[in-house]
Amino acid sequence: MQIICWGVRGSVPVPGPATCRYGGNTPCVEVCAGDTRVIVDAGTGIFPLGRRLAPNPAHYDLLLSHLHWDHIQGLPFFAPLRHAGVSLTIHVPVGCLSLLRELVFNANCHRYLAAPFGRPAADIQFETFACPAPENRVPGARWSIGEIEIGTVNLNHPGHSVGFRLSTAGRSVVYYSDTAPFDEILFGSEYLGQAPHKDTKLAGAERERLAAMRQAAIDLAAGADLLIFDSHLTRQEYPQFPHYGHSTPDHALEMAIAAQVRELVLFHHAPARSDTELAKLEEQYRSMAGAHGVALRAAREGERINL
Ligand SMILES: [Zn+2]
Ligand SMILES: [Zn+2]
Repeated sequence: MQIICWGVRGSVPVPGPATCRYGGNTPCVEVCAGDTRVIVDAGTGIFPLGRRLAPNPAHYDLLLSHLHWDHIQGLPFFAPLRHAGVSLTIHVPVGCLSLLRELVFNANCHRYLAAPFGRPAADIQFETFACPAPENRVPGARWSIGEIEIGTVNLNHPGHSVGFRLSTAGRSVVYYSDTAPFDEILFGSEYLGQAPHKDTKLAGAERERLAAMRQAAIDLAAGADLLIFDSHLTRQEYPQFPHYGHSTPDHALEMAIAAQVRELVLFHHAPARSDTELAKLEEQYRSMAGAHGVALRAAREGERINL
């Protein structure tokens, strides 16, 4: 299994001298096993990936974790879509289908793009999957794409996001790109405009739902070779922005230890985080993780990880 990070940045692409080491493109990860290729998320990182792939006739599978801009904004620029002979299956949470169809087929017009491609030449199919709330005690959808088995779980994020486990031949990578920790706030469909008052206490039922969500996320990640995890905020920033729906490297490491994964990859770097700051964080948390027997790296654009 080979994993290539094409985009590792959260929220907005930030190319420039301060981000050239870790990269400025938004989330896109390619996972290959044998003849199977699965693309996870379509941030602007899918643009360089598409340039490498096009125009070869081929079939591609794209998993979308959720529809926040940074995870779909590269899709209209995925070059293989302009070629007949290419087919793409987009796997999307069931509640996101109509919005996604709007993006792919209707928002792709002169009003939004200087060079739209109308109805894409490629054959695009949509597959939906259900990811029931953890308190229902029903596991998230599981299916296979070629040689890769897919598992899903709900994460704690405004508007909901989905985490994936991709496994083949005893190797596995887990992708939890956008999630808050599972303790202070239970996110739903609505965006929270501000942090809850510090004295706000969660109701017992909400606390139970968070605990069930956390356990389901740990269960899906258990024993994985690689855990790619949201590390958008620093420990110092988090108390100001718990309502953003993102985690810190501390939360990521806590989950990596609980799930007993082999290596943790810090991901979804904040757009304002410079290479210098990321290198410091990587060094600091690498030694903390090492004390627990977990390898650690901060995701870098273009990096290939072989499992
Ligand atoms: Zn994101
Ligand atoms: Zn998001």
